[in-house]
Amino acid sequence: MSEENTIEQVIIIGSGPAGHTAAVYTARADLNPLMFEGFMAGGVAAGGQLTTTTDVENYPGFPEGIMGPELMDQMRAQSVRFETRIRTETVDSVDLSSRPFAVKAGSKTWHARSLIIATGATAKRLGLPGEEQYWQRGMSACAVCDGALPIFRNKPLIVIGGGDSAAEEASYLAKFGSTVTLLVRRDELRASKAMQKRVFDNPKIEVLWNTNATEVLGDGKLMNQVRVKNNKTGEERVLDASGLFYAIGHEPNTAFLGGQLEMDETGYLVTKGNSMATSVPGVFACGDVQDKTYRQAITAAGTGCMAALEAERFLS
Ligand code: FAD
Ligand code: NDP
Repeated sequence: MSEENTIEQVIIIGSGPAGHTAAVYTARADLNPLMFEGFMAGGVAAGGQLTTTTDVENYPGFPEGIMGPELMDQMRAQSVRFETRIRTETVDSVDLSSRPFAVKAGSKTWHARSLIIATGATAKRLGLPGEEQYWQRGMSACAVCDGALPIFRNKPLIVIGGGDSAAEEASYLAKFGSTVTLLVRRDELRASKAMQKRVFDNPKIEVLWNTNATEVLGDGKLMNQVRVKNNKTGEERVLDASGLFYAIGHEPNTAFLGGQLEMDETGYLVTKGNSMATSVPGVFACGDVQDKTYRQAITAAGTGCMAALEAERFLS
């Protein structure tokens, strides 16, 4: 029987911290997992979001920090050590209407009794002039990940967005920057009242209403200014800023699921209570694809472990 005709116990889709943790646990439970690690799925290399960053300083076990790509190489090596079979392909679609479940990649179809969805999420970006040059050179989409870096200490910082993430990131960055300017495209915040209060009560945060960023400027190495425009008056200004943080939402990588699993209104997979179970028994979700609150490598790994243990229980 070819690999394609075998009925797998578990197929893991996605290769970030959630997917690799699920692989280690299911492999050590003798479930012989097959992982689809993706090939530039959602524009991100196999290994996930951490392949797009430099120092990771908050993942336990690395007191000196570790580079994101190296951490993911090590996670992959650990999955391989326990004989996870890894295919460098992106899953195009799944069929959850009958059992075993079908997983399609390219012209081939695989079958499995259980699935672990660990496809992550992608932070939305604006594509401003200057963004490509200064991304990760002052520009970031994760204040919790990057905010404590020395380049931001006691420097003016800017956050774009009006939701809970923007409010949370502005409050967090106010601990490090000299000032934080929040650019909000409308004349009100979408954030909850409690988060709004945190913003308005913080003397280091200034809100610019009805304001869009239009260009990122710098010295060739690091960004140092942002051009902004008031969308009501048309007035343009250039603001000094050593950091520009996007907090305009994330896009969970769920399009390939074709709406077969329950999602919330923003497209995140819904998992049940304290469990990683989705709306279809035998399909589990972990990591950022089902988490719009924490979005950290360690929480992704933690939920990857939970999904694997639940898949093991389901299969037995
Ligand atoms: P992801 O890391 O998003 O990985 C999912 C993977 O699945 C991707 O590789 C993708 O290629 C693959 N995939 C997607 N669709 C498919 C498909 N259809 N078929 C096959 N494969 C698919 N967190 C921290 O804790 N500390 C940090 O310092 C930190 N820094 C960060 C810096 C940056 C710039 C970013 C963007 C994020 C950072 N994070 C950090 C957040 C952290 O990276 C994420 O929380 C974590 O990677 C989520 O892991 P995940 O396994 O859920 O998914
Ligand atoms: P949201 O979708 O809630 O907010 C995105 C914000 O970005 C909105 O204010 C939106 O503006 C703005 N925005 C979107 N596109 C652009 C653009 N092109 N230019 C300028 N601004 C733009 O995303 P969040 O990540 O903030 O939150 C996602 C979910 O996670 C929410 O349900 C939130 O409640 C939850 N969350 C909760 C937290 C908490 O409780 N502590 C922390 C973080 C997130 P507009 O309002 O005009 O649409």
